[in-house]
Amino acid sequence: MKRSRAFGRMIVGAAALAACAPGSLGTALRLAAQSSPAPSRSIGPGPKLAAMKKDAAADVENMRELSQQMVDQIFSYAELGYQEFETSKYLTGMLEKNGFRIERDIAGMPTGWTATWGSGRPVIALGSDLDDIPQASQKPGVAYQAPIIAGAPGHGEGHNSGMPLQLTAALAVKKIMEREHLSGTLKLWPGVAEELGGGKAYFVRAGVFKDVDICLFAHVGSNFNLSWGDRVGTGVVSVEYTFKGESAHAAANPWRGRSALDAVELMDIGWNFRREHLRLSQRSHYVITNGGDQPNVVPSNASVWYYFREIDYPHIKELREIGDTMAKAASMMTNTEVSSKVTGAAWPQHFNKVVAETAYENVKAVGVPKWSQEDVTLATAIQKELSQPQRGLTTEIGRLQGPVRLEDNIGGGSDDIGDVSWNVPTVTLNYPANIPGMPGHNWANAISMATPIAHKGVTAGAKVVAMTALDFLARPELVQEAWDYFRTVQTKDQKYQPLLASGDQPILSTNAKTMEQYRPEMKQFYFDPSKYKTYLEQLGIKYPTVR
Ligand SMILES: [Zn+2]
Repeated sequence: MKRSRAFGRMIVGAAALAACAPGSLGTALRLAAQSSPAPSRSIGPGPKLAAMKKDAAADVENMRELSQQMVDQIFSYAELGYQEFETSKYLTGMLEKNGFRIERDIAGMPTGWTATWGSGRPVIALGSDLDDIPQASQKPGVAYQAPIIAGAPGHGEGHNSGMPLQLTAALAVKKIMEREHLSGTLKLWPGVAEELGGGKAYFVRAGVFKDVDICLFAHVGSNFNLSWGDRVGTGVVSVEYTFKGESAHAAANPWRGRSALDAVELMDIGWNFRREHLRLSQRSHYVITNGGDQPNVVPSNASVWYYFREIDYPHIKELREIGDTMAKAASMMTNTEVSSKVTGAAWPQHFNKVVAETAYENVKAVGVPKWSQEDVTLATAIQKELSQPQRGLTTEIGRLQGPVRLEDNIGGGSDDIGDVSWNVPTVTLNYPANIPGMPGHNWANAISMATPIAHKGVTAGAKVVAMTALDFLARPELVQEAWDYFRTVQTKDQKYQPLLASGDQPILSTNAKTMEQYRPEMKQFYFDPSKYKTYLEQLGIKYPTVR
């Protein structure tokens, strides 16, 4: 990583100047302030910082109606990866109104943007994902499957809550920075198409994080969780293979045809046999995105889309190479041609020790939200519906988890925050806005996401982010410590090498047809906060609705 830490050096430089030439110090500092303001001196961990954090948390609490509106609004937009147009327009509009400078079309993505406020160091990046899940449309607050629109996408991952959390936190921090004249920059950014591994690696490549000092990422969970070091889970490379054959009348002249669908099926069969002999930590899955048109035409084009997941970079690459071999072999068996394109990627995640420990102190101070009887009733009812232990909602914060050893990493999901985490000290804060025991990527995960459960979880999470941002703004030495860990521990032996090749571009047309199909109907259900206090009220849902 090439990166000059002007931050630390400027403090030393100013002090040295003061010692030898006191007369010129004022001029020098003024000049510095015009270009890139010197960071404030450390306020230290004392009562002044504590009071600032308390005020920020109180401000977040006062903004809970605004947070609720944002959570409900984005829930109602329910947009799939790369199609987050309404969501992005709404968020950038809110941020612009609050004095943030917006940059659009980041990394060539129409739904990619950044919003910055303030000046100078440290630069604190606040991010969260935007996109939702196919066919996960669900009425909030109802403890059984009840789509708002059958077949439509929905927030069955809870990505409608993260940016409202970050925006609320940013507004609270901004107010304190103005009051206390703190140097520093807040930079909000969205996780575009996270479900496709389609955003963050491109953001990294576009340089979004090159001037960032600390990244605080937020992701929905069913509790407060933080970890540092290598995290349990995988990285992924997402590849679509397309086979090209020759069409023919499937009954009259089948011997004239070469079936691209045969190639897809043979590749999948090969992969599924090979699966037995792959490492236990791998995860791989596919969908056939094009299987031909109709049975009486030999399919001349067919495509299959794979996610290759493994726990470290060399094994992700190796898995993808096996996939390439399978595809080549299938094309040889069927006398077809094969091409492939990378449609997304995510590095395994590694979070920063200093940032995680700092944030965890704030989690301890904020604690789990106070749930109502209605909240617990909803949770227990959906747990019963899905034959899960009926444990209701979380009542105690999770532990701060340390690094997982490579040999103990059993694999699991991925998140392209991994790419960011290998470029700048980063943590993901999981916050309690969902119900424990849900399957993930499912309508059931949407149930809580426009109810008081999500609203309270977002307010609690925003307090933690605001307090943590203030820790780093007020104590430049913490930024330095975070970078020391990043340099001397995290990246000592392992350096970031993108899984994307330089020619790989985001496939912006992904999900466009699905949104085109459903958006007109979905528009009728967009949240209207000028008429209704909550989305539950607009939909006329009694909270909670249980069997
Ligand atoms: Zn997610």
